[in-house]
Amino acid sequence: MVDLVSALVWLLKIYAISSVLFYLGVVYLRSGWKTVDFLEKGSLKAVIVTAHPDDECMFFTPTLLHLVQRGHCVHLVCLSTGNYYSQGAVRTRELFKSCGLLGIPPEKVKIVDNRALPDHPEIKWKEEDIEQELGPLLASIKPDLIITFDEGGVSGHINHRALLPGIRKLLRGGRKAFENTKLYSLQTTGTVRGLLSVLDVPYSWWSCDTVIVSPPGGVVKAWRAMAAHYSQLMWFRVLFSMFTRYNLVNTLDVVH
Ligand SMILES: [Zn+2]
Repeated sequence: MVDLVSALVWLLKIYAISSVLFYLGVVYLRSGWKTVDFLEKGSLKAVIVTAHPDDECMFFTPTLLHLVQRGHCVHLVCLSTGNYYSQGAVRTRELFKSCGLLGIPPEKVKIVDNRALPDHPEIKWKEEDIEQELGPLLASIKPDLIITFDEGGVSGHINHRALLPGIRKLLRGGRKAFENTKLYSLQTTGTVRGLLSVLDVPYSWWSCDTVIVSPPGGVVKAWRAMAAHYSQLMWFRVLFSMFTRYNLVNTLDVVH
């Protein structure tokens, strides 16, 4: 029994060291991304659509930072002020600060405050309300690319899960402003993989076609942006930020 345990510990150590080496190899030898068509193109207009202030730095930083670093025009649209605990005004300010740290200037950050789209873990946002709110906003940007949560919502929050169906409905509406717009969703991996940090990078790389990996400096930027959301720094979010794979790697699906 003791032999079995020590063998498992050794295997874990070998896997951990291999994962770190694999991660560094991907970042420094492969530019940190795999088959991401939009990163190879010239100047694009990209919009990241989130549900709450802090989603941008808890889940999307590898994608967001790669887009910013390659000189693409990156907008962030957040569909609520995060007012569940009546902290909407504070969280709005924190969002602008976080986006500034991630390289998105204030004029490219839009935070929506709509009664039909409240920050609430039990109120399902309607597709029509999302379509109605985002339609004019996105039409004014004419994005080449939209990135949002998948239908699992990464953390499973009901507001995150509502975004993809609403945006898909908008794009299928046939508006001219969106005829060349591509839609990507961020894969939900579940809690265990979600908290494996660098240990999940090899599996993410091999199991998905569209992968973006942040270098160590990008992870530090994600932590600094999270710290800007001072009102949200509860112990569990700090732990999440330390161990989440989403600070290191984003795996994306092409939806539209
Ligand atoms: Zn959220």
